[in-house]
Amino acid sequence: MTIKVALTPPDISAYQTGNIGIDYYTTFDSGKPGPHVLVNAVTHGNELCGAIVVDFLYRHDVRPTRGKLSLGFANYMAFLRFNAASPTASRYVDEDFNRLWSVDVLDGPRDSVELRRARAIRPFIDTVDLLLDLHSMQQSSPPLMLCGPLEKGRIFAKGVGVPVHVVADEGHAAGKRMRDYGAFGEPDSAKNALLIECGQHWEEESANVALETTIRFLKHADVIEPDFAEKHLTANTPLRQKFIEVTQAVTVRSSEFSFIEPFKGLEIIPKKGDLIGFDGDTQVSAPYDNCVLIMPSQRLIPGQTAVRLGRLLAD
Ligand SMILES: [Zn+2]
Repeated sequence: MTIKVALTPPDISAYQTGNIGIDYYTTFDSGKPGPHVLVNAVTHGNELCGAIVVDFLYRHDVRPTRGKLSLGFANYMAFLRFNAASPTASRYVDEDFNRLWSVDVLDGPRDSVELRRARAIRPFIDTVDLLLDLHSMQQSSPPLMLCGPLEKGRIFAKGVGVPVHVVADEGHAAGKRMRDYGAFGEPDSAKNALLIECGQHWEEESANVALETTIRFLKHADVIEPDFAEKHLTANTPLRQKFIEVTQAVTVRSSEFSFIEPFKGLEIIPKKGDLIGFDGDTQVSAPYDNCVLIMPSQRLIPGQTAVRLGRLLAD
């Protein structure tokens, strides 16, 4: 299969030193009270749209009007290995950086390139009030905001206003995501995090979605010059959002998992009991009517999430 890579990874070498003692993280301080906001790229090394947007913010000298704005490249080790001839290979070096964010794993005895990096940035992440983690997807499907399982995440996603589809979810059996880490996952904390899946990894449109979402995020956090935001937003009025609650993840059990169709995501399985796929000899079917498929995976290996299932929430 030929994979078209329409995006070019930016040269991020100028951002390596940063100013907080952690490679590839920089904090701009307005000197005024306000939240510490982080725009985070390349949690997965092959997801180029985030790197393009963080590079854009640097090149446009975006500074916070209050509080602090940090810009960062999380798994830069994987990103720097990106090769358009084999674009999926640089998702991570040793393991998925976005499955390490539980205290057990971070404090545990295991070691990997990604764990070392997660441990290095953890004290900094502890100071972040509002996180936007920029991601993209394997499949060419509409963008999704993953707002986590808490009401505060849904309210935040609504405040940002894009994209249309917002998914309220718990994450993955394989491990905790940064967006669910620490106070981001505590209902009573004012800290909040969003993870945007901007579209297919290497499609041009994913970078446009990432930029629009980032500017709306910074605008909603009230940390960006309004004129700059207006200048770089598209003229489109955001469409009414749809909220989908993930009810379960289908985790691959056997070595032979297959979907009955090449699903891309957001397909609606009309009837309870309708077939979605096979995990070895076991049928995987819709647990209820109008079951929405969220991010069906092409990495169908035991222990990984094959697809997540959700219901559309009434407004
Ligand atoms: Zn990702």
